[in-house]
Amino acid sequence: MSVDNSSEAGSASSYIPRPNSLVEDVYDAIFAQLMALKIAPGSRITVDNLVKEFNVSQTPIREALGRLEGEGLVQKTHLVGYRAAPQITRRRFDELYELRLLLEPHSAARAAAMMDDVKLRAIREAAGIMARRDGHDERARYSNFARLDAIFHDTILKCAENELIRETLAFQHTHFHIFRLMFHSRVTEEALDEHAAILAAFAAADSAHAEAAMRRHIECSRDRLLPAFD
Ligand SMILES: [Zn+2]
Repeated sequence: MSVDNSSEAGSASSYIPRPNSLVEDVYDAIFAQLMALKIAPGSRITVDNLVKEFNVSQTPIREALGRLEGEGLVQKTHLVGYRAAPQITRRRFDELYELRLLLEPHSAARAAAMMDDVKLRAIREAAGIMARRDGHDERARYSNFARLDAIFHDTILKCAENELIRETLAFQHTHFHIFRLMFHSRVTEEALDEHAAILAAFAAADSAHAEAAMRRHIECSRDRLLPAFD
């Protein structure tokens, strides 16, 4: 997982890769294009085109595509090749948010009840990276935000100490799919304020407020993304 702010997603060929980070760099570059809809949902992904674009061999590209396939962002069809996963349907979107609303506010309450310095530091750190402005263009920043939001929410689930709930949500790769619905700075700016409210509740080890703040954040996130279906 690379959250290195000095890397430039989308232009992997512009810096000298260390051998074991080449796949990581190619992965980051393709991930950024998928999240920013530069590779449109449902469209073909041609290995040869990526070879030319990133100026690397097929091997790291196939490895990166395999990893993206595992995350549900890329689909591979026998004899056809790779395709970007189609956009999630309205029905699936509703189902995902229902699942999140069932599990995440409850988990936030549990995490707050078990809060200690180590957990609070881990959650603060996950939240702090997101707030940082850097030299990225907006689209790269957006794709980075999707990944960091996933880590922030996963860290809270980890602190709630129910691995089954954590795995259930991780398996959906929710953030990767919902962030592909629309590219809009509102999605990131407003979420940061809501995260701050969640953090404040954790700092006070206040279960009721943590639960309410998480519920509000997920409901607001849903309402921000709903116009994508209009
Ligand atoms: Zn969030």
